[in-house]
Amino acid sequence: MAKGKLIVLTGPSGVGKGTLLRSLMRRHPELYLSISVTTRQPRAGELHGRDYYFVSRPEFERMAANQQLLEWAEFAGNCYGTPRLAVEKQIQRGRWVVLEIELEGARQIFEGFSDALGIFILPPSMRELEQRLRQRASESEEAILRRLERARAEVDAADEFDVQVVNDSLERALDQIEAALFVAPEPEIVAV
Ligand code: 5GP
Repeated sequence: MAKGKLIVLTGPSGVGKGTLLRSLMRRHPELYLSISVTTRQPRAGELHGRDYYFVSRPEFERMAANQQLLEWAEFAGNCYGTPRLAVEKQIQRGRWVVLEIELEGARQIFEGFSDALGIFILPPSMRELEQRLRQRASESEEAILRRLERARAEVDAADEFDVQVVNDSLERALDQIEAALFVAPEPEIVAV
């Protein structure tokens, strides 16, 4: 059976990971996108079980304490985590599992899964990122500023990832992600 693997997609809030991921999943339905648990309130249009599992903080804390999360982190005042069971099941079945998570969670995954592939999505510039965050207009000024501060710290850590992709054009960024995922590595030379 094909071997399952973990693909970690990280990048600052507002960089367009969601749009990229939706396109990637349309092109490659064989990939499995992990649905995270969060204590954040749903945004307009978000659905429980499709976008996130929205839970209370005590429920989240219970899951973390019971080792039900593969990784978790606090981000801009809310908790986010990857449900362990679903991911492990899919990996055992040989599927490639995509985690769309922030930097701290990505580091936890790299520690536990040394062969996970890390892809970091960069904005064309920090200025553009701020504009995108403000256009979303779903959050308070304070929340936007917290996200921007975090974005700067995340961008500084981009070289911890195997691949860096600048999201200046959706098509180009997608092509680069596909190349990272599906281009076969150089064959190993085996001595006989
Ligand atoms: P948002 O509130 O914009 O949906 O997500 C905020 C941040 O949390 C994003 O950077 C997103 O990648 C990250 N995130 C979403 N799910 C998870 C998760 O399960 N674990 C971690 N560590 N981060 C997550």
